[in-house]
Amino acid sequence: MGHNLTTLLPIATFLFIEIKSIMNKAKTGLEAINQKQLETWVLLAKNRINFGRLPQYIPILSEANPGWLAVSIQTVSGQICTGGNVDLKFPLMSAIKPFVLFNLLCELGEDAVFKTVGIEPTEKPYNSLIQLEEDKGWPRNPTLNSGAIALASILPGSSAIEKCEQLRLWLNKQANCQLSLDELMLTSVKSLPNQRNRTIASILAESGYIKNWEIALDTYERICCLSANIVDLANLGILLVKPPGPGWQEYALIVKALMSTCGLYEASARYAVKIGIPCKSGVSGVMLGVVPGEGAIACYSPPLDKEGNSVGGLFLLELMSRELKLSVFN
Ligand code: GLU
Repeated sequence: MGHNLTTLLPIATFLFIEIKSIMNKAKTGLEAINQKQLETWVLLAKNRINFGRLPQYIPILSEANPGWLAVSIQTVSGQICTGGNVDLKFPLMSAIKPFVLFNLLCELGEDAVFKTVGIEPTEKPYNSLIQLEEDKGWPRNPTLNSGAIALASILPGSSAIEKCEQLRLWLNKQANCQLSLDELMLTSVKSLPNQRNRTIASILAESGYIKNWEIALDTYERICCLSANIVDLANLGILLVKPPGPGWQEYALIVKALMSTCGLYEASARYAVKIGIPCKSGVSGVMLGVVPGEGAIACYSPPLDKEGNSVGGLFLLELMSRELKLSVFN
């Protein structure tokens, strides 16, 4: 019994289409990343970073090497790919903010946290006094300095040193990372007193949202100086993808949602469309993307754009989101 071409052709075409679609599927998602691909992307990103500027208001940050760039991708299954200057350590700055929120949700619960801070986005800068005045001293979300200073004030501990240390140890344990306090950075932060942050902290105290503004501000400055390397940063991201404690998934969901609406300063809404991944950046050039169910993308590259986001970090996140189809809105 023989098969003629008319019976075999449709079967062959069907198999060809199926195999092609399986291969296409395998090429998307964070698991599809490989070392060679990542190295190519790092080179592309390095060509972009000269469009950015270093921040000037913290002396050590203004002396960073603008050519530095590091990236680490970690999947939920434990696959790790790294590229660029992977040995560098850098302060987390504002990238600590989602983790203060997560720590407090896990340790104190939603009521205590949302008595202290809101979940509303803003189009104003992260340290806007106008916004805080319009809100009558209410810190409208945890990624603003007002919100982060208010949350810093309820971290367990009786002094700023204790509060920061408790957070550091908790994160190191839960995220399996090695954060340390960068004392030199802290001295540099304190060397040019940040008048705006002082005003924010005192308004919060006047409006009754914090008790002792000096301790709250000192705690905030310390936690911003918790330092990580690029693999630590990806580990922190994984904490929000695969939280280890019972009931923590629900808290991680809140944190990731807030990262999507408020994680990239005034540009948050734009990058929710362009990248579609919950992200948080910091003035040191940190950029963390958390891909729900898949893993974390950690980037570090000091030059910033006009909104204060790392140029290299944004470039890599946009590229990866597009090439690997990572947007949560897919
Ligand atoms: N320490 C910085 C500040 O409050 C952190 C800001 C940031 O990373 O955006 O100004």
